[in-house]
This record gives sequence, C-alpha cells and structure tokens, in this order.
Amino acid sequence: MFKIRNVLAREVIDSRGFPTVEVELSIDDPKHAGETVTGRAIVPSGASTGEGEALELRDGDNKRYLGKGVLKAVANVRDKITPAILNREFTLQSHLDDMLREIDGTPNKTKLGANAILGVSMAYARAVAAAERLPTYKSIAKTCNSSGVTLPVPLMNILNGGKHADNGLAIQEFMIVPAGFNRFSDALRAGVEVFHRLKKILSTKGLSTAVGDEGGFAPIFSGASPHEQAITAIMQAIQDAGYKPGTDIFLALDCAASEFCENGTYNFEEKKCTAEDMVNIYTQWAKTYPIVSIEDGLAEHDWNGWKLFTDRAGKQLQIVGDDLFVTNPTFLKKGIDQKAGNAVLIKLNQIGTVTETLETMRMGAQAGFNSIVSHRSGETEDTFIAELVVGTDAGQIKTGSASRTDRIAKYNQLIRIEEELGSRAKFAGREIYKRFMK
Ligand code: PGA
Ligand code: ZN
Repeated sequence: MFKIRNVLAREVIDSRGFPTVEVELSIDDPKHAGETVTGRAIVPSGASTGEGEALELRDGDNKRYLGKGVLKAVANVRDKITPAILNREFTLQSHLDDMLREIDGTPNKTKLGANAILGVSMAYARAVAAAERLPTYKSIAKTCNSSGVTLPVPLMNILNGGKHADNGLAIQEFMIVPAGFNRFSDALRAGVEVFHRLKKILSTKGLSTAVGDEGGFAPIFSGASPHEQAITAIMQAIQDAGYKPGTDIFLALDCAASEFCENGTYNFEEKKCTAEDMVNIYTQWAKTYPIVSIEDGLAEHDWNGWKLFTDRAGKQLQIVGDDLFVTNPTFLKKGIDQKAGNAVLIKLNQIGTVTETLETMRMGAQAGFNSIVSHRSGETEDTFIAELVVGTDAGQIKTGSASRTDRIAKYNQLIRIEEELGSRAKFAGREIYKRFMK
C-alpha cells in the first residue's frame, strides 16, 4: 500500500522548444515512518500523431508559446487529479491508473488531457520503485511478471525525412538495427560508428549533415529514387564502419505513410501510388536490402492495404503498427483479428497510462506480436522508456539517432542498466527477428 502525500505539476520545455508536463509525486516511505519518497516524470510529445491518440491538452493561448502552453493540463493535475488521489492508498499501479481514467471519464482522455494523466501515472511508477528500493525497470518487471533482464535492440533513426525534416523525403525514418551482437553496448557502439561514417559519406557528397528532430541527418537527395539513395548511403556507411549489412546490422523503416496519403492515394516520389504499389515497392526493397522491419507502411485508415501487406510480406518482415494501433488495445485487437501487422509500436502518451500501455504489450505478446517501445519526436531528458523496455523484456527500442541528448539519455540509461545487471543481462539480438529470417 502506497499512500500519496504530495503531487506537483509544472510546465517544462521539450527537445523542440515546446512546453510539456512534468509531475513529481511523493508517497510514504515504507522504510522510514514520517518520510516520503518521490518519483518524477516528464511527458513526451509527437508530431506525426495518429488520429486515434489520446488527447494532448494544449492551452491554445496564442500569447504564450504560440498556443502550445500546457498550463491547463498542469491545472488539471493540481485541481482535478490531486484532490482525488491525495492521502489515498493504492496497492497496484493499475489501481491508481483506473482512478485517473475514472476521474477523466472519456475514452480519449479529452477532459483532463493524456499529458496530465500520464505525468501522474509515470511519476507514481517511479515513486513506487523508490519505495521498493528498486530501479524502475525492476519494479516494472515485478508489475508485469517478466524477467526484466532483456536489453533491447536499438532501432536507430540515423536518416530523417517526412514530418521530422524538410528535405522532401516522404519516408520519415531510415533506421539501422544492430542486432548481430552479443551485448547492447556493442550494438550501440556499432550504431554510433555507422552514424559517424554516414556523416562522412554525406559531407563528401556535398550534402547537409544537419540533424532533424530525432538526431538523424536530413540531407536533400536530388534526382530519381531519393529513398533508395538514402538506403544505399546507409548501406555504404555500415560497410565503411567495418560491419556486415544483413549479419551485424539490419535496416528498418518508419514510413509514417498517413502523412503522404491523400484520399487513399500515396504521393510517393512524384507518383500517385495505390496501396498495392506501395506494398510492391516495400517488398522489392526488402529483397534488395537487409530490411527486417517496416512501420506504418500504409496509412492508418487503410486496413485493406495493411492486410495485403501482412499477407504478402508478414513472414519475412516485421510489420509495425504505430498510427494504426496508437498503443490502444481496441485498435490492436482489430489488427490481431484482421491479420493487419505483426508488431506494435508502444508510446505511453498515445494511450495515457502506464497500465494501459502494459495491457497493450501483453495483448500483443499473447497474439505473437512484437512490441517496440518508442520515444516521440518531441522528447526530454526523461528516460522512462529505457526502464519500460527492459522491465517488460520487449526486446526493441526506438529512441532516435546517435546525437541529441534527448535521444542519447535513453541509450546511456540502457548502458547503466546493462552494467548493473552484469552477467544476468541478455541482449535481445537477432533472436527477435528469427522468425522473419528463414
Ligand atoms: P512522432 O514520430 O513522435 O512525431 O509521432 C515518431 C514515429 O512516428 O514513430
Ligand atoms: Zn511511427
């Protein structure tokens, strides 16, 4: 039983210079009567958001932060949530989260804002871990009955397009997947080395090496097939770094296709494409390059396209729903039933509580779907997702490129966790993609 003694919320700034919600929550310290322990968490924010995401409450007051202030969400923590939970005892994370959902009372958390609710939910998870004298990943592992020793394969977004850059690439993320290593820290090192090699390649070609929102490069490739130019530049970078594509390092894409789909037509490389055209492009690429995973290859309403893609390539590729599932058990269930996708992207703020996030991951695991724990394009120094991915043994994390401290903070936390686990640490590695590699 943990009694909540204090809740504080404030407006802080994220990696894009926009406000977001930070919450500090104190509970009684079970080890020292009269004292409390505190958990703190900051909520991230997306740009290529799915329509079904829980509401991110913004003030809309154009005199502050161009309307993007979050004082209403902060006030909701202070005036609506705090009075209801203060001095109440909760045994499980789900008890608190159920209550937060009840206070809000809407399916998409439109009354209080998912940013208000999630801040409290994550801060509580951290406070409980502090009370238990456990690192947060171990406390999460207890909550979901997992081993909590699996270090994830990092899906590193080293080349950015779509809404995260302004370079004309339709596809949002070109990721390297250093899965062929024995330890997380070796995989990360390989990924970082490839990032630096890619920088060299781009600057030799006279292309920009400025980075986008998630720390990847955002060069403008001119001429035909800019997307394949991006892929081949990355392939070259892998080789220049001394690694073998398809053995040490694989590729993954997040197309974020809702962003370039208009009335069911995909605007891709100056052509109007059908879902089937896109599926043909992806499967052709997957034959040519060591691609193991494609996220949001089709738009979020294009369920037929998703089914077609999964039917055609679901045995060879991890097909990940982000905008399609928005970490929501209802949408994920539809995907499982309709055989649309075979993996789910996990973003806490798409659904708004820790408990519902864990529920979505559990549902996915039961159906044989992989889970990839993910950052948002708007991030902060908060490393909660590093704890979550180890605590749930999910085995894959998407937390950006090898630059920008908002991304690196998560990698550094994983290095610490790996060190702390010592010989108990397991790297998810190629095993996670084994079923796609026959
Ligand atoms: P977002 O992008 O955080 O801007 O939604 C990340 C993603 O699409 O995976
Ligand atoms: Zn995505």
